[in-house]
Amino acid sequence: MQRRRLQPTLKSSDLTNASTSNIAVLGATGSIGASALDVIARHPGRLRATVLAAGSNVVGLIAACRAHRPDHAVVADTGQFARLRDGLRDAGLDTTPHAGDRALEQLVASDACDTVVAAIVGAAGLPSTLAAARAGKRLLLANKESLVLAGELLTATARSAGACVIPIDSEHNAIFQCLPDAGARDGLRRIFLTASGGPFRGRTRDGLADVTPAQAVAHPKWSMGPKISVDSATLMNKGLEVIEAHHLFAVPRERIEVLVHPQSLVHSLVEFVDGSMLAQLGLPDMRTALAVGFAWPQRIASGVDGLDLLKHRRLDFEPPDLDAFPCLRLAFDALASGGTAPAVLNAANEVAVAAFLQARIGFLRIPALVEDALAALPSVPADSLEVLHDADARARHYVEAAIARATPVGAGAGLS
Ligand code: NAD
Ligand code: MG
Repeated sequence: MQRRRLQPTLKSSDLTNASTSNIAVLGATGSIGASALDVIARHPGRLRATVLAAGSNVVGLIAACRAHRPDHAVVADTGQFARLRDGLRDAGLDTTPHAGDRALEQLVASDACDTVVAAIVGAAGLPSTLAAARAGKRLLLANKESLVLAGELLTATARSAGACVIPIDSEHNAIFQCLPDAGARDGLRRIFLTASGGPFRGRTRDGLADVTPAQAVAHPKWSMGPKISVDSATLMNKGLEVIEAHHLFAVPRERIEVLVHPQSLVHSLVEFVDGSMLAQLGLPDMRTALAVGFAWPQRIASGVDGLDLLKHRRLDFEPPDLDAFPCLRLAFDALASGGTAPAVLNAANEVAVAAFLQARIGFLRIPALVEDALAALPSVPADSLEVLHDADARARHYVEAAIARATPVGAGAGLS
């Protein structure tokens, strides 16, 4: 039997209400955060950033506060509280400073905001994302890792609290736009997630041994934070997105396909039982998805131009190369295993990607470490948040220890 799909519950006021939305931007100093603030600034009467949050980048957070004058600013790193407080004061801002994860969760759940942009990177985003879902907010969900780690819990929480979840990941936002009503969803046959193929598309496995972090983060089509850029280069990003799509749209793994589409203009497609396929197209710019999230079911300007098909002309599609990019296969396997396997996959990947970015391991060690962690930590039923946190912690420890064992003291990059 199929699980109920996560339906955005739009209140009647959402259909007509053009009054101001009070928005919390979590991850305000990041790539998605900057895009969200850009869209917000285009609609001063309608959208207002009331809470801005960052990890440890106080300078970036204060700069965003100068531009957007929120009521609250939160830095996750409690050691940075005094710098944030003093910086806000020196800037002459009324913004109230806060620090720590608990303060962020409380603000997200409070009436300081009705809309939350969840754009913290990694599993660190789960507590605040869950808090927004629990409080029934309009949740613009970019933080895909929270769905990979705790998809069932997060979707069930959102459903029972009546939170309106709008996926911001471009592929899932595309699918969301193609499946606006429940009636159409009943005739859904397959979902096709498109993938750019990343900066190393076309290379063999051997050709990936010596690639550098700088090459890996130089994405050909999208400008993104470093972690997701490396995930795009390994195709783990698409693997995480397969798991994300499974949870958001309640589609089993067998009905989720991945197509490499190097132009990154078709953001994803859905196929119905009658043979129809619908796709959403547009320039690769996250502001489109964010504008959809802020205004849905209405449409507002995002600052993104329309797509000139006569200029682009070609739309190519090819199958992914699972030999050169095994992370995608590992993610499909983790989804099939279920339980804690996706949490292990995600945590092992976060640690491996961080080590690659620090030039402590080579590129091919990323999939190898994730595969080893999945083998060493067999899946158990994920029946509580504690079990998931435990699996996450064990996977992080396992991968850190494996990297430390393989890295001679004083050694640097290039270990593969
Ligand atoms: P980024 O690295 O540019 O920004 C990350 C943000 O998270 C920063 O503001 C940082 O200060 C904050 N942060 C980090 N650790 C934190 C912590 N412990 N507590 C609070 N804040 C913390 O990342 P990004 O590219 O903007 O991606 C953000 C999320 O959106 C990721 O989950 C990513 O997968 C997803 N996403 C991004 C894009 C994109 O185009 N960038 C597209 C789809 C999905
Ligand atoms: Mg994506």
